[in-house]
Amino acid sequence: MSFIVDLSIYAIKHGRAHRVLPSLIIAQGILESASGTSELAMNANNLFGIKSGSGWSGDIYTKQTAEHNTDGTVYYIDADFQKYPTIEGCVIDLVYKYVNGTGWEAHNRYAAVLNQTDYKKATAAVKAAGYATDVNYPAKLNELIEQYELTKYDKEVDYVVKIALDAGHGINTAGKRTPDGEREWSLNNKVLLACAAKLNKYQDVQILRLDDSTGNTDVSLTTRTNKANAWKADALVSIHHNAFDGKWGSHGGVETLVQEITASKASKDIAAIIQPRIVFAMGLRNRGVKTDNLHMLRESSMPAILTEGGFMDSTTDIGALRSDAKLKAQGEAIADGLAVYFKLKLKVAGTPVPPKEDEELKFSSPALKKETETSLVSRAHRQIIVAAAVKSGAHASWTDKLGNNTLTDADVLGLAVKYTVTVNK
Ligand SMILES: [Zn+2]
Repeated sequence: MSFIVDLSIYAIKHGRAHRVLPSLIIAQGILESASGTSELAMNANNLFGIKSGSGWSGDIYTKQTAEHNTDGTVYYIDADFQKYPTIEGCVIDLVYKYVNGTGWEAHNRYAAVLNQTDYKKATAAVKAAGYATDVNYPAKLNELIEQYELTKYDKEVDYVVKIALDAGHGINTAGKRTPDGEREWSLNNKVLLACAAKLNKYQDVQILRLDDSTGNTDVSLTTRTNKANAWKADALVSIHHNAFDGKWGSHGGVETLVQEITASKASKDIAAIIQPRIVFAMGLRNRGVKTDNLHMLRESSMPAILTEGGFMDSTTDIGALRSDAKLKAQGEAIADGLAVYFKLKLKVAGTPVPPKEDEELKFSSPALKKETETSLVSRAHRQIIVAAAVKSGAHASWTDKLGNNTLTDADVLGLAVKYTVTVNK
């Protein structure tokens, strides 16, 4: 049973995201890998007998394999199979095959596998697409799905997004205060409470707080990340406010940090979605998404960001930091950004507004939309980002892409994140 439980985690994560039934993925895994005990599963983490195609650049595992003629008779061939570092990689590959097709046909022969709610239709579609030569393949999968009650993994109802929230420091932590003695934790706490309140307006969200909610104890960073890791949070947001040298000055602005070098794509995506929202909520300068080596980002095993919602020693920013309305808006901006990333639905009575599938960034106001477009679309901004990225080691071909207008918004964000370029400088 533990094989099914282990596999179900990845089948749910990647299957649901791409509208492939987890029950189908798990049944295929059980059948094709003899519940994880097959030679291919043990030596190559290949649960589905995925053969190596021309597009495969990873490791290869060669093995003799049985094939079936259409009349059911068996013959043997030597075949190359894809070797994966983890089982999850194999699940991703199977799901991508269904989503994208074979890669050598214009038409996706697996299209009918997607968006099914009836597992019998899904297993029939897999066979119809020519996935397996065994004529009894769908019947065998259906039997496994029924025997192990795998349809329970198809239900959306038990899917909960777990968000770990962290107000940086404690109320008495030395140094973490404005030149006038106002405490950073108090600012962080107000943002956290507003963020949690807004998150609770969405369906299927659980929140875990990592700091001491009274502020009296500055909980150690190790305790904080251990707590988030043990809880298996889906994302971690550590909320902070910046300081330059503790003396009033005209510096200022909002930035969001991800771990240098090792940040996951999810961390960068979440940062890219949340950063402009905080900028707009606070009405402060946009310092962009940056990288650093920080405990909360490095030692957490889920996508993690650290927000700096303005400078506590900035004469420009302090007005916004002293405004409870702006801190509330900042917390809600973080919650709304998470909602966009995790595709959360608001708990609304009455007629729900159907979500737009292709709308990656949902803007809460026309002004925010304009702000983000200015960062991304403005040619001047793009030139600054590309020039700085190339100067710090990005390939020179990015300049060509800028020149011939093939640079996408994702490219620009990627360059900005990777090379720690300040968007508005
Ligand atoms: Zn801090």
